[in-house]
Amino acid sequence: MKLVKTIKEVRDIIKQWKADGQTIGLVPTMGYLHEGHTSLIDESVKNNNKTVVSVFVNPIQFAPTEDLESYPRDIDHDSALCRDHGADLIFNPDPSEMYKDGFSTYVDMSVLTEELCGLSRPIHFRGVCTVVTKLFNIVTPDNAYFGEKDAQQLAVIKHMVRDLNMDIKVVGCPIVRETDGLAKSSRNTYLSSEERQAALILSKTLKLGKELISNGERNTGAIINAMTTNIETEPLAKIDYVKIVDSETMQPVNKIDRPVLCAMAVYIGKTRLIDNFSFKEA
Ligand code: AMP
Repeated sequence: MKLVKTIKEVRDIIKQWKADGQTIGLVPTMGYLHEGHTSLIDESVKNNNKTVVSVFVNPIQFAPTEDLESYPRDIDHDSALCRDHGADLIFNPDPSEMYKDGFSTYVDMSVLTEELCGLSRPIHFRGVCTVVTKLFNIVTPDNAYFGEKDAQQLAVIKHMVRDLNMDIKVVGCPIVRETDGLAKSSRNTYLSSEERQAALILSKTLKLGKELISNGERNTGAIINAMTTNIETEPLAKIDYVKIVDSETMQPVNKIDRPVLCAMAVYIGKTRLIDNFSFKEA
């Protein structure tokens, strides 16, 4: 497995692989890899001849008030995990390699990005769409792997690929959780032990929402109210949003009469955590 830092090195390797008729899977990440990320790598390794993992903390998807500087980084740990899981190449560019002086072209999307995380992070998805487009152009993968943990991001990327006629299959992979239910996230490292315990309120509340739906509740207002009340029992939790939206358009729905995403963002202390589940009638 190779670790490269320049776009030219990636392109030279990819050119050779393509000449040899190899299929290519891409797993875009911000690093500090855990089992959520490695589940995507495993899926790519299983279904492609070559797997590229990008490790890049993308500055343009962070607002000035967010955690760009403190975001955890450990490329040696990431390299070891990628190697153990059979990846072929890590692309770990410096920000200056991705964003040359005078960089001024962005990929912006309306509608899907205007709900959920897009409301509290208004520039986030522009940064995500732009960097993913650049990674797609650099790596030219056949398949690209994204986690359902970031369900809105997955919907946005699928929509972008459709809108811009990108010849890439976007594959969604299930959420990987700790044994007690907390969704794995690089940001979990920010949590104190007390906050780590409090963070269980997210998965417990999603369970409550799921139960209400399986008991026949279809009124989203009632479900959201019950979930909100439940989160409010945890003193360290502060709700950013709890919403039920159409799975494709990300627009809120009043009634569950189509496939939906139930998603939440909750601050535990200073750490903003997200989690979700999808539901569609059997
Ligand atoms: P990140 O490094 O947080 O930007 O995540 C990179 C990719 O890994 C994204 O597609 C995420 O959705 C995915 N991912 C992160 N955490 C998990 C998880 N717990 N389960 C599944 N996928 C995940």
